[in-house]
Amino acid sequence: MKTVKDYIRTIPDFPHKGIMFRDVTTLFSDPRGFRIAVDQLLHPYTGTDIDRVAGLEARGFILGGAIAHQLSQGFVPIRKKGKLPGRTIEQSYSLEYGEATMEVHDDAFQPGERVLLVDDLLATGGTAEAGIKLIERLGAQVVGCAFVIDLPELGGRKRLEALGMDVHALCS
Ligand code: 5GP
Repeated sequence: MKTVKDYIRTIPDFPHKGIMFRDVTTLFSDPRGFRIAVDQLLHPYTGTDIDRVAGLEARGFILGGAIAHQLSQGFVPIRKKGKLPGRTIEQSYSLEYGEATMEVHDDAFQPGERVLLVDDLLATGGTAEAGIKLIERLGAQVVGCAFVIDLPELGGRKRLEALGMDVHALCS
């Protein structure tokens, strides 16, 4: 029986030479693969109160939307700067070369809400940390951070755990 990892393919030299890109489109396009990924992402949170699901652009939208639907809860996109139409708050973070900024609508979460944060892959943790800060700045609480893939050598899990986060990944 295939596991989640078996549905993920690696594309060498994308987007730059020397990068091994973990491509989850093959996981998403397979009906069983997508189903087991969504089920396994949710599994540790069975019995946990979750008021809303937040997804990080862009593959976090695909997973987060499916998870929110399964929970019968709402979905909130956390987007790269300049994409959201309403009033936003923003959070910048460092990349290897330069900086990136994520945004969320300033009315996307209510104070005290319990939020599950979702993305496809955890590398350095910079993107997820920006998402956590945005959620917390609006007074909501992150009850878990769920990823399909963790790249442990890049330190993201340790970085998020140092913030007190519960980190869940399906494979590494
Ligand atoms: P981090 O901020 O943790 O360093 O990088 C994670 C972000 O970069 C995620 O939003 C993820 O989608 C994207 N990312 C980085 N490398 C890869 C990769 O090899 N495959 C995929 N699918 N996403 C990646």
